[in-house]
Amino acid sequence: MHDRASLVHLDWPGQYLKEGETQHMTIAVDFDGTIVEHRYPEIGREIPFATDTLKMLIKEGHRLILWSVREGKLLDEAVEWCRKRGVEFYAVNKDYPEESKDDRNYSRKLKVEMFIDDRNVGGLPDWGVIYRMIKENKTYREILIEELTADKSAAEPRKWWKFGQR
Ligand SMILES: [Mg+2]
Repeated sequence: MHDRASLVHLDWPGQYLKEGETQHMTIAVDFDGTIVEHRYPEIGREIPFATDTLKMLIKEGHRLILWSVREGKLLDEAVEWCRKRGVEFYAVNKDYPEESKDDRNYSRKLKVEMFIDDRNVGGLPDWGVIYRMIKENKTYREILIEELTADKSAAEPRKWWKFGQR
């Protein structure tokens, strides 16, 4: 139905970066079910930390493109909803702000490094996880493994601190 680039990303955009390098990416972000709960054509409640995360990503130099099946008035409402919360997109449903459907090279295939979309395989990670994936250039899998092992190591200093207080 939608001629999108593949929603399944086995390829990781930052996989060739050296440690500590940040890649400024163009990131396509879906609206319904991703930024807000899916209540289309209504606008659902914000998914926790969605707009805060998007604002941080913009601040850090990433280009965000709103990529939605919404059109016309419904699309305008979504853009306005985001704008009111301080999220200003680089472009909406296109690669560049000035791109129009009349452009000779117009293509429905977005030239982006990453999609944030609730239709991804495995669903939508929490926005905190999404942020870490981009910021730390890690895969979902790497973050999950870290989170599973983090509790143990975090418990050690706490014990030591309690001991010190006695
Ligand atoms: Mg969606």
